[in-house]
Amino acid sequence: MTLKGKSAIVTGSTSGIGKGMAEALAQAGCNVTINGFGDTDEIEAIRAGLEGDYGVKALYHNADMQKPGEIEGLVAHTADQFGGVDIIVNNAGIQYVCPVDEYPVEKWDAIIAINLSSAFHMIRCATPHMKQAGWGRIINLASAHALVASPYKSAYCAAKHGMAGLTKVVALELAQQNITCNAICPGYVKTPLVENQIADTAKARGISEEEVVRDVMLAAQPTKKFGTIADLGALAVFLCSDAAANITGTMLPVDGGWTAQ
Ligand code: NAD
Repeated sequence: MTLKGKSAIVTGSTSGIGKGMAEALAQAGCNVTINGFGDTDEIEAIRAGLEGDYGVKALYHNADMQKPGEIEGLVAHTADQFGGVDIIVNNAGIQYVCPVDEYPVEKWDAIIAINLSSAFHMIRCATPHMKQAGWGRIINLASAHALVASPYKSAYCAAKHGMAGLTKVVALELAQQNITCNAICPGYVKTPLVENQIADTAKARGISEEEVVRDVMLAAQPTKKFGTIADLGALAVFLCSDAAANITGTMLPVDGGWTAQ
């Protein structure tokens, strides 16, 4: 599988799943723009690592996914440097776990902006480049929580269910233009986003952190295993292949059987 000559943007790729997505696409030969927050030296090490390990071009752009103007800048910069934008992975996301009647309004607004509206802005800005090239792939990092709910995750589930609707609409609009749009719906993958919510969930439910992992997180997953970043990267590369040209508008669970129940 080669994506040589293609260019991709992966939002929120300084950590976790997004970083794995950027690596998988670069390994397939794709030039990649990474994005997200973190330590400047660590981000530069990730960017330079993509170039050194895979022989592709890699850029970093610091767009804040809460700011539509900065998202426009991210897409324009990539198009300018790489000569187009063929693949976008809308991955940036945050989580906050809290009962709905105590849910901080600013957390709700931030989750809707970063986990949902940023995908709209990325799609809005990138699809003209894909239409011009006559080819494109849009991959939305949704969640099992795009398909089912869990208590105390009102903003996250609302954003991810919204992403499912956005995925379907965009797939229909672009169906005849060689541009697919799909959502990957992981179950629990041990990344900083998940590590950080163990303590909050323990507090919200009044149970220990060990009980959160066993009785809340992995209780939902029949395989009783966390998913892996590598599996998600491999799926993203497959979705970019010619073999996946007829897969569009789908929610693809990678959740150890969670949403089969
Ligand atoms: P993570 O915390 O490891 O990484 C999140 C990334 O988003 C980081 O690079 C961070 O800098 C970036 N980010 C956060 N706010 C941003 C902003 N305002 N602007 C730009 N970048 C920003 O999280 P992760 O677990 O790798 O999650 C990645 C995606 O996968 C999220 O959309 C998440 O909802 C989804 N997801 C994760 C899991 C899981 O179990 N980890 C399961 C299902 C879905």
